This record gives sequence, structure tokens and C-alpha cells, in this order.
Amino acid sequence: MVYNIKVDYFSINIIKKAVIILKDINNIIYLDNAATTKLSPAVREAMEPYLDELYGNASSLYSLGRKSAAALENSRARIAEAIGADPREVYFTSGGSESDNWAIKGAKHLMEKQGKRHIISSVFEHHAVLNVLESLEKSGFEITYLPVYKNGVVEISDLEKAIRPDTGLVTIMYVNNEIGTIQPVTEIGGICRSRGILFHTDAVQAIGSVPVDVKAINADFLTLSGHKIHAMKGVGILYVNKRIRISPFIEGGAQESGLRAGTENIAGIVGLAEGVCRAVGGMEEKHARLMPLRDKIYREIMKMERVHLNGELERRVPCCLNFSFEGVEGEALLLQLDLAGICCSSGSACTSGSLDPSHVLLSLGLPHEIAHGSLRISMSEYTTEAEIDRFLEVLPGVVDKLRKMSPLWENIIKNS
Ligand SMILES: *Cc1c(COP(=O)(O)O)cnc(C)c1O
Repeated sequence: MVYNIKVDYFSINIIKKAVIILKDINNIIYLDNAATTKLSPAVREAMEPYLDELYGNASSLYSLGRKSAAALENSRARIAEAIGADPREVYFTSGGSESDNWAIKGAKHLMEKQGKRHIISSVFEHHAVLNVLESLEKSGFEITYLPVYKNGVVEISDLEKAIRPDTGLVTIMYVNNEIGTIQPVTEIGGICRSRGILFHTDAVQAIGSVPVDVKAINADFLTLSGHKIHAMKGVGILYVNKRIRISPFIEGGAQESGLRAGTENIAGIVGLAEGVCRAVGGMEEKHARLMPLRDKIYREIMKMERVHLNGELERRVPCCLNFSFEGVEGEALLLQLDLAGICCSSGSACTSGSLDPSHVLLSLGLPHEIAHGSLRISMSEYTTEAEIDRFLEVLPGVVDKLRKMSPLWENIIKNS
């Protein structure tokens, strides 16, 4: 049989364009892993049966449902073991934002019963924490936001000074998502436990980069999210210490011990468990591979003129660096890097799109115009040295080009 296929000039062009786009996607250098990560093949493989034939509702009594229930409880046990918890202390949620909301709103109910109205947090938390606290302030709670200094780390002495008899909750993140600095959560948790104060930590950026053990840090609540560790978006956990009776977050069915209703996202949860176990199991290898890359980026970028590292180098996860380039506009830098196929961010994904400089960078004491010229580079286990070399090859030219067009830069040079 003979097919008469007519391919005109127009369709050839479309095909050519599609091929170029596909090629481009394959060539992308992705250095924005603090915003989200790609799905790992192992996670995809673990999830696959639950996207296909094992679609039963975990609450159903026949065997198809029971298989889902078994997968659910197996995932809960795997995650519990990975973070040093009891399976009964692990609740599945829709991700980091929900878990942060639940922890703080749950603690609010407990505090009300005890007549406590004071909460301590830090100025550079994720908005899923800050915006909840802001709404609690409107309902009469008092919040003390601990400062962070140039090093990007909260001070224990500031925490101790801030504690009052009516302090009921401390919520401080484990690792900051914009600059990658590690907070002294072990000390914070110890102080809270000895003073009878609840302690929540957002460990979304910590898992897989630093050891996360809920007992060792005396956490009462701990937040994790799937999509920052090569699992799915829209799935996460809240760890709740079993001595705490937290109030329900979503009312409805009896799922998650009646505290978080809704038919479970079994495939996502199975993937999350795989993601958590891979992140924890692969931590040392990732550390060993990324440390030299991090140091190379630091060394090369610091050779450039008028550039600053945001937050100290030492107490920092290996995958994340954040720099400010004087006389450069962060958004312009991102767009130029994008043209070269490189994905980075300035500030966090949540604040990009607004013209305000990041609250995290301002909290370090950076002036507005310097905070505006910032760039976050966040790597993952998939980042290669070749990609970093390419990035380091492109960056100085882009910064130079932008500075040449910048009146701000002209002033900086004139005044120096
Ligand atoms: C990404 C992130 C969140 C939000 O998690 P989602 O799963 O996207 O809701 C919360 N806290 C930190 C530190 C994060 O990096």
C-alpha cells in the first residue's frame, strides 16, 4: 500500500520547532531545586502500580481496597522509621504549606486551652508560616519574630530572652529555603521541651541534606513536602508527637485517625515514602558529591567584582548558595540566564512575581538595592559538574552585560 503523505512547508516548520523545544528541555540546566525537583525514576516506579491497577480506596473492605490500605500504612511506617518517629505520629497532608498551617493552627487550639497567647518564630520563615502567624496576630495572639543576622542563623540567646510565661509555641525552620542556612533546632527543641513549650519546625529543605530525627531535636510538630525531594507535588506529612492531641484540620471521613479527612492520595504517598527513604539513605553520598561543587561555585563567583554571599558558608546545606551582585537587577539576571537555558531564582518562587525584595534577604540586613540583585543556586543529586561549569562560564558575561546597561552600577563605580 502506498501512503500519500503531503507535508507542506508549514508543518515541517512546526515539526522543526517542536524538535528544537524538545532539545532545549533536555539541555536545561536546572539549578532551582529549592523551588521544586524533578521526579526520580525510583519514585515513579514505586508509584506506578497505584496509578494503574491498584486504584482501590483505602477505606474499602475488599482486597483491592485493602491493598491500598496496606500501601498507605507501609508508607507511613517507612517515613516514621526514616525520621525516628512512631508510625502513629505521621499524618499525610497535601504538602508543606498545609502541614505548616495545621501545626500552627493546631497549636493555637492547645494554647487557648492553657491560656497561653505568645508565639516565637523568626523573621525569615516561609510564608506558609508567616502568613498564618499574621492571621493569629489579628485574633489576639502576640508573636515575637527572632531576628537573623548577616550569617542567616537565629541566636539561641535571643530565643531565651523572648520566652515568656505565656509562650506556648516556637516555630522555627530547620533550613532556610532561600539561603540554605541551618538553624540550631536541637538547642531550640531542648529549650522548648524543658520549658513546656511546643516546638514546630519546617524541615522541608532539611530532609536529605541534614539528619532529621524528631526525637533528637525534641520536635512536637515537623513538616515535610514531597516535591522538594523528587516525589510528587501535593503530598507531604505533618509529624505530631503522640503526647499531643491535635485538633482535626479537615473534617469529614475517618481518614488519618479522623484528623485529616479525604480519600488518600495513595500513589503520591507511596512516592513520598520512597522519596523520603531515598533522601535520607542518599544523604551522605549527595553531600560528598555536592560539597566540592558548592565550593567551586563559591570560589568562582567570589572572584567577580562586588558580589556578596548571603548567609554564612559554614552552617549551610551543600545544595544551596545565594549571592547578591551589586548593580544588577535580579529579575533581569534570571531572564538572561534563562536565555542560556539555566534555571535559577532570585528570592523564592513564592515572592517572585512581586517587585518587593525577598523578606529573607532584607532580614539579613541587606539594603533594598543589593537584595534586588540576588541569585539563588540550588542543586540536587542530579546536578552534574559539567552543568556547574557551564553555569560558571555563562554567569560572568551576563552580569557584565547587565552592569554595562545599569545606571546603578555607574553610580557604584563613580562613588567608590
Ligand atoms: C516549598 C516549601 C514549603 C511549601 O511546601 P509545598 O509542598 O509547596 O506547600 C514550605 N516550607 C519550605 C521551607 C519550603 O521550601
